[in-house]
Amino acid sequence: MRIVELETFILRRPDVIEAGDSSQDLFLVELRTDDGLTGLGEADSSPEVMRAIVEAPYSHEVCRGLREVVVGRDPADREAVWRDMYAATLFYGRGGAAMQAMSAIDLALWDLLGKAAAQPVHRLLGGPALDRLRAYSSLLMPHDPAALAGLLGEQRALGFSAVKLGWGGLGRSVAADERLVAAARDAAGPEMDVMIDMGSHGWQRDFAAVEAFAAMLVRYGIFWLEEPFHPDDYASYARLRVPGLRIATGEEECAEWGFETLLEGGGIDVIQPDPARAGGLTRCRRIAELAADHGVALAPHAWSSPVVRAAAVHLSFASPNALIQEYSRHPTPLSATIRSTIEARHGWLDPPAEPGLGVSLDREAAARYRVG
Ligand SMILES: [Mg+2]
Repeated sequence: MRIVELETFILRRPDVIEAGDSSQDLFLVELRTDDGLTGLGEADSSPEVMRAIVEAPYSHEVCRGLREVVVGRDPADREAVWRDMYAATLFYGRGGAAMQAMSAIDLALWDLLGKAAAQPVHRLLGGPALDRLRAYSSLLMPHDPAALAGLLGEQRALGFSAVKLGWGGLGRSVAADERLVAAARDAAGPEMDVMIDMGSHGWQRDFAAVEAFAAMLVRYGIFWLEEPFHPDDYASYARLRVPGLRIATGEEECAEWGFETLLEGGGIDVIQPDPARAGGLTRCRRIAELAADHGVALAPHAWSSPVVRAAAVHLSFASPNALIQEYSRHPTPLSATIRSTIEARHGWLDPPAEPGLGVSLDREAAARYRVG
């Protein structure tokens, strides 16, 4: 089996707004083999940057585009392809955008290999390690606390027992944040876990302010606090200790050393690698195992599309330390371009049964949003 075709897709909704929401555009890679199998992967990043990294012509030995590394290869050589992509982008990569673009190809290779073996990807990864997996409804925090009752009532009616509210209206002031947290806690009811994700909206706060904010969250019984510090501020992540509150982070990390630094710092309870950013499943599997060695739970980040959601679900089902799975409930028209067999029912996910990742591209739907 040889890869004979690599096609990239940039999808973008026509009405992109300024918001902390990476689901407004989408970068996909579809690989095709000589025996007609296809594999689909995604990178959650700037789509045009991703395409440039795939299509870049040969510059010199350690400065190349990914297409020339991948086309012509046997998908079964996935580990070797990963190493060769890393070597080919060494001069401008070793993390960041190059690792994100590699993620799209790696996910497509896993999808192909699962289909070729007639196995769901979590089985190729050694799963299932869990019988079922709790999903949490993931939403942007509204600006108005009054909006929370309806929004969280909807999630409860769907059967979710956990909800995360992030970015959006958070970060204007500590007092405004507390009003949102109190309204969320109240709207969620006593049975539902609530996570708070500061995203970039809290990164300007100093250490003492974050410590006080975290203590406030403890009073409201919040399940975890996500990304309280700037991702470069490893020292603060290592320093913060809040009894009664989990600290979660990792969606900004791409290189493995970033995860190692966070885990070795000892301040993290939940690590959140994104398979469409952190080197695909090939690298995320290692990150999950490294986290387990440190006694840290896994909760893969998955916001942008049903492709990364599928990859994250397969990773979780192969990982004994998986805690809970992000399940975006934020409406985006681009999700209609992906057919997916992976759906939460009453707030839970079953081990995926379909060969590969269990997602495919609806080309007709995608054509409506395709740009470039
Ligand atoms: Mg987040």
